[in-house]
Amino acid sequence: MRNPKTFNRIKNTKLYNLVKKFSVYQYIRKIFKKTPMYAYLTFGCNLDCDYCTTKHNPPENKSKSYPIEKGEKWIEAINRIGKDVIFTGGEPTLHPDFIKIIKNINEKILISVYTNFCWSDEFTQRYINEITRPVRFYGSYHYSSGKPEKVIKVINKLREKNLMEGVIHMVDPHDDDFFKKVKEKFNQNGWYFFKTQRVLNSYERCSMSFRKTVECSGKIIIIAPTGDRYQCVSKLFRMKDPLENIFHENLKGNKISCICHDYGFCSPCDECYKINKTRN
Ligand code: SF4
Ligand code: SF4
Repeated sequence: MRNPKTFNRIKNTKLYNLVKKFSVYQYIRKIFKKTPMYAYLTFGCNLDCDYCTTKHNPPENKSKSYPIEKGEKWIEAINRIGKDVIFTGGEPTLHPDFIKIIKNINEKILISVYTNFCWSDEFTQRYINEITRPVRFYGSYHYSSGKPEKVIKVINKLREKNLMEGVIHMVDPHDDDFFKKVKEKFNQNGWYFFKTQRVLNSYERCSMSFRKTVECSGKIIIIAPTGDRYQCVSKLFRMKDPLENIFHENLKGNKISCICHDYGFCSPCDECYKINKTRN
């Protein structure tokens, strides 16, 4: 049996992450990987980042008016559908039933979580006490996260209990000196730390200055806090054209396509969509 301690140490090395990024590993993984579901548990967050995509869909952004649905609904739907799930938001750990949801999802389903790791001591302790199954984290550090030591304390605690598998990175570090200082702190604690850039509204499709009709398709499953599926993140934010609701019915396939009249109002998260034909 693999030793999780050794495996986690390897997974947090620069070499491992570089190999993953550039090798055929990603290509092969894409072929065999089941399409996961992106479950937006809540759009609430304990941080307030300027570049947050939840702020970049004016004037029709309705993400803050989504209600919080009970954990039981999520558990039943995710177990029935059986797809791997990626919890996102907002900050998904703020859903009041977050730990209950993780605990009750079938062990065969892979769980990933996007989180800023700005967890309270109490929440971290509860997580450690109650969760035994593996969860993959896509951790992000932000300017508004406060001192890096706060985040490092949380991920070190998880690592001590073999509960930390995943990556930690900084979003949009326009201040290179600041990024280097933060990186050093994470590295000193044995964490591989890298940066990612958000490019907001710089693409034609996200300019929000015109609307065009196009054929748009993608193989991505996006579920709103209400259980409604949407074609893309932009439509999810705008509550536009909801599709099937996973709390009441099964998914109707992975790939979806539509004639969309809102090209120009895409979200920066919708880059992967294929625009097939411009209609006007
Ligand atoms: S931590 Fe993430 S979800 Fe929260 S405000 Fe920042 S970018 Fe948005
Ligand atoms: S064109 Fe943009 S807004 Fe329309 S469905 Fe595609 S990604 Fe969404």
